[in-house]
Amino acid sequence: ELKASIPPGLIDVLALPGLGPKTVGLLWKKGDVTDVESLEAGIDSGTLTDIPRMGKKTLANIKDAIEFSRRSAGRMRLGDAMPLAERLVESISAAEGVTKIAYAGSLRRGRETIGDIDILAAANAPESPTKALTSLPDVEKVLLSGETKTSVRLEQGVQVDLRIVPESQFGAALMYFTGSKEHNVMLRERAIERGLRLNEYGLFEDDGEKEPPQNRGLTPVAAKTEEAIYEQLDLQPVPPELREESRPESMPDDLVTLESVKAELHAHTVASDGTMTLDELIDQARRRGFHTLAVTDHSKSSVQANGLSVERLLEHIDAIHQANERHDDITVLAGSEVDILADGTLDYEDDVLARLDWVIASPHSSLRQDASKATTRLLRAIEHPLVHAIGHPTGRLINEREGLSPDMTRLMEAAREHETALELNANPWRLDLRDRHVRMAQELGVIVTIDTDAHGPGDFDLLRFGIMTARRGGLGSSLCPNCWTEDELLSWIRSKR
Ligand SMILES: [Zn+2]
Ligand SMILES: [Zn+2]
Repeated sequence: ELKASIPPGLIDVLALPGLGPKTVGLLWKKGDVTDVESLEAGIDSGTLTDIPRMGKKTLANIKDAIEFSRRSAGRMRLGDAMPLAERLVESISAAEGVTKIAYAGSLRRGRETIGDIDILAAANAPESPTKALTSLPDVEKVLLSGETKTSVRLEQGVQVDLRIVPESQFGAALMYFTGSKEHNVMLRERAIERGLRLNEYGLFEDDGEKEPPQNRGLTPVAAKTEEAIYEQLDLQPVPPELREESRPESMPDDLVTLESVKAELHAHTVASDGTMTLDELIDQARRRGFHTLAVTDHSKSSVQANGLSVERLLEHIDAIHQANERHDDITVLAGSEVDILADGTLDYEDDVLARLDWVIASPHSSLRQDASKATTRLLRAIEHPLVHAIGHPTGRLINEREGLSPDMTRLMEAAREHETALELNANPWRLDLRDRHVRMAQELGVIVTIDTDAHGPGDFDLLRFGIMTARRGGLGSSLCPNCWTEDELLSWIRSKR
């Protein structure tokens, strides 16, 4: 009713941090503010200063809130948020008296984008970690600073909440602030069924008293670690990545881990648009203890990426095979990342593809085509007998490009039938396959490769974002060739030759 009677643009004004209905009502009735634009114009021109209670400082704060909400409208990518959070955790943990520290929230669950950063710290003296955070050069504004909670806004456009908790309750707080809400609700209900009460302070016996147990000095049944709480609730500890729903639908025994990956199957060199020479790339893979590396430079139609003509490709294959001869501690495969053209044909003829040890087929152009064309296009590549994997199948870029929206069920069914892998590209701009597609693959028995698509030496470190996404999809290593032994991997690869 209220919504119908006020200008629709005022809803956005109401959503600005720090603006309540009274203030917004005043701005509307006395200042003709009907949306964020007219609010901003009124502040800039000074016409709103005549309104009661609208001092210069209040208006400056509102202007501040407008700018922030604009900047943070696009959530932060996991690949940007995680290194930032790690840096904050490192700085705060160096403060005096900090005994335990961790980030929680959707970041810990590995979501592809992050709203804000939650950090928990246990400390003997709460002032010291609080000061460590508020005095960081990235801090643009301290929004709230109390004994147990401090909120700041960083110049990167993200809010950070630091909570100080006793070390004895760290696990309960970590569990609570990691979420998700749905998972926490499930845990609380399980506690109730067992005559217990779970909150952010711990798991307590439920004695029926209204007053919360922590206020009455009761000792919790479990609080120090998450594992102890799960155990008391008769549950296997749930990895943070699988806490998105109330209870993970499936949790394979062989859930992929960073350590289980032993091969990189998608990487570029200076031959196309990478920055590493062939030897530098091989060196990166060896340093990580991988048993297999596939070198996959771009194909001829990717002109902007310096894709290889057939002639250059054949020379490249020879060079890779020679390099493979030089190294007996790693198998180096001559591969290619071959463009899937708009109609589903591949960028090299079959006789050329047959000379490659390993073929990834990827869509790079025509990424706005309709769903049915995209499905046909990708199906053709999946069904091609010389193709091992489909690279970044939808071509989406997080916060930038929607990409293709093919019929995933049909792609998955074809991929299973032809034993073609769908790639989970670990680059945090891509994370393509998405987590929910990985779950479909796991359920249907489709092979999923996890690769960094390395273009430079640091890119191998992006693998962890792919692993988090794979774990969110519940992927077991038995469906992930990167986790297989060298024999298993090579025998699958040769089956396509
Ligand atoms: Zn690509
Ligand atoms: Zn690539």
